[in-house]
Amino acid sequence: MQRDCSELDEEARLAALSEFGVDEVLSEPAFDRLVQLASNIFKVPVALVSLVDGERQLFAAGKGLDVCETSRDVSFCAYAMLQPGVTVVADALKDPRFCENPLVTGAPHIRFYAGAPLLTVDGHPLGTLCVIDRVPRDDFSQSDCRNLEDLAALVLDRLEMRRLELARQASQLRFEKIAATSPDAILCLDECGRITFWNEAAHALLGYTSESVTGCGVELIASDEFAARVRQLASDDATLAAGRTTETVVRALDGTEKHVELSGSMWRDHGKPSFGAILRDITERRRSEERLVNLALFDALTGLPNRALLRTRLEDSLAHDACACVMIVDLDGFKDVNDSLGHLGGDAVLIAVAKRLTSCVREADTVARMGGDEFAVLLPRLSSSKEAARVATAIINSIANPIVIEGESVCVGASVGIALWPQHGSTVRELLGNADLALYQAKSEGRRCWRFFTAPLREVASARRAYQGELLRAFEQGEFKLFYQPQVRLADGALVGVEALLRWDHPQKGLLTPGAFLEAVEAGQLTPQIGEWIIRSACHQASAWRERFGLPLRVGVNLFGAQFSTGDLARKVRQALSDYELPASCLELEITENIILRHDEQMIEPLRDLHDLGVSIAFDDYGTGYASLSMLKRYPLTRLKVDQSFVSAMLASSEDAAIIRAILFLGHSFGLEVIAEGVETKEQAERLRKKGCEVAQGFLYSAARDPLALEKQIQRRGGQLFLTISACGEEKRPQDEKEASQTSD
Ligand code: C2E
Ligand code: CA
Ligand code: CA
Repeated sequence: MQRDCSELDEEARLAALSEFGVDEVLSEPAFDRLVQLASNIFKVPVALVSLVDGERQLFAAGKGLDVCETSRDVSFCAYAMLQPGVTVVADALKDPRFCENPLVTGAPHIRFYAGAPLLTVDGHPLGTLCVIDRVPRDDFSQSDCRNLEDLAALVLDRLEMRRLELARQASQLRFEKIAATSPDAILCLDECGRITFWNEAAHALLGYTSESVTGCGVELIASDEFAARVRQLASDDATLAAGRTTETVVRALDGTEKHVELSGSMWRDHGKPSFGAILRDITERRRSEERLVNLALFDALTGLPNRALLRTRLEDSLAHDACACVMIVDLDGFKDVNDSLGHLGGDAVLIAVAKRLTSCVREADTVARMGGDEFAVLLPRLSSSKEAARVATAIINSIANPIVIEGESVCVGASVGIALWPQHGSTVRELLGNADLALYQAKSEGRRCWRFFTAPLREVASARRAYQGELLRAFEQGEFKLFYQPQVRLADGALVGVEALLRWDHPQKGLLTPGAFLEAVEAGQLTPQIGEWIIRSACHQASAWRERFGLPLRVGVNLFGAQFSTGDLARKVRQALSDYELPASCLELEITENIILRHDEQMIEPLRDLHDLGVSIAFDDYGTGYASLSMLKRYPLTRLKVDQSFVSAMLASSEDAAIIRAILFLGHSFGLEVIAEGVETKEQAERLRKKGCEVAQGFLYSAARDPLALEKQIQRRGGQLFLTISACGEEKRPQDEKEASQTSD
């Protein structure tokens, strides 16, 4: 029967493949390390060494996939191994070659694939080293391809080792036949240590020809160390059986020393012990391995260790040191920089920050980039919280200095969360998680500051998680309530508005303020519905008060970011206004910078619509973020609300007083009214009035109250509304609120 050439090729290929012992999983740690490395470098969940035999592809080593073989017909690798270079499939669903492949349309739902062929010295394709993702990826670059090929070379290297070991277990003759064509140096010794076999690759590596060394003692090339290793390997059956390798140094003809990997075995030849050794020059491989390991452990942009390496070092520290400190450092205002300077500018800032961070710590400490604009610092053997605080302060100060990028000076800030070992956690996971909670706290307390982890932070966090499951019930059972806090005109004390603030009347915990549950709301699916309910209830209440007092009272409503994602905010607001017959001027919507940063594109249009309609738009917590002037120009605003942190610090710090002055100046020059929040004392109110602030809100006048209680404190005098004296300052404050909720706990 006539057979065509490709059939013969396939036969030769299968014969070559069989020399590698493909039927078993390659259980060597070296393969595991290589696929792990591939998965780290390319940030993919799945990496495989796939070998293709007659009918199947076998996953000889793998990470991230449960199956260990598939049929050859559907195999990506059967295709990729025959291609020159790396095969990249950016999105399998859109690729005519693979879109109908059952591995794409069904489990494991491959979307992205890149595979480098594994070719023997004779050019036979064995399979591939491939990386796979379940999402499409269009960012696999030329240099990624080169790295994948380098990794494939390391895999082949290992496979070759395995082939020789298998051959060695067969007959001496067969071994010598295979050894003759091996790219590795191979020599055999008799029981006296004399060289009996020497292949071409040994010639190439060490310079001696086979003729010149045959019969010579192994001392010719071997250091004492080598001889010792040979003896040890030859006598240690367990090592031999496992086919383990060891590293050593040999001497070449020209006197140079070569670092080689030695793998040896003993067998009996005509009753006499013989010794075979495979020597492999590892200089080149070491270099390429080192480079790839670097790629997997260091951040390409800043050169800092990445998250994986930080974890390893933290693990090390926990294993060897008595104490340690981890900090998570997050930049404030980085997105602004990225938006205004572009990505290259953003990258330059990150590089500058990396340098500054490194200069703030000791040589033995680790500064790592965790991703995005988040960094971490590991300070092994640091136990004093005072010292940790000093380092954190130094970091914050150093990052606060303007960074000059192409002649332009930009400012970012940093917030720091700190966790100490062993006080604040016992595992890597716990410590990083707790440092993260502390960071979160630092951010919410005004940023540009550091906070230590404290146990209550974890309780709050787990409470937040716990509340998640209760939100639907709370919403459906009407457990959410709106409280209202008065806003008073500083010139004459008239009540000009109220801010609606959300409360949760929890059946077990009592009255909860947003700090306890808002995050759970924002993380959940119900946010738009709850947001809509808040708008409608506030409009309803404002309408009722308007009727009752015969005068309009503006109500401020805080918005959630998610309310902008649904695309129907303007319609919902119009609907509420018309349902409750409330003039648009009686409603104010409060937005924070955080919402703007996340929903910028989606916001302008609905806000403009509503602003045109007569609804006021207030910029909440102004001064805490990095809201730029351009933001004030771009957004249709009516008011700025000065954050309470400035108000409370105003009397003590001239800096905060200056910020308030600046905000007032800015606001007024944009034609905006300014409201000061968190006014607690008469002195603060007086100061603010003198500086030209129009309206104030705070405990001095009243905490947020339930509508019935507040209503009793409102009086109409002339054409204005006022709060009765009893509501000013002396009344119930949030502390009482909290106490009330705690006692019902
Ligand atoms: P915010 O919008 O900045 O609201 C002002 C917060 O400061 C309120 O806290 C208020 O009770 C508190 N406060 C008022 N006067 C003083 C004072 O003189 N001193 C001090 N120290 N604090 C004062 P609350 O009610 O706990 O709300 C916290 C945050 O939760 C609000 O900050 C707002 O961002 C959010 N929030 C509250 N209600 C809602 C809501 O209905 N919707 C949305 N999206 N967010 C809400
Ligand atoms: Ca607010
Ligand atoms: Ca505020």
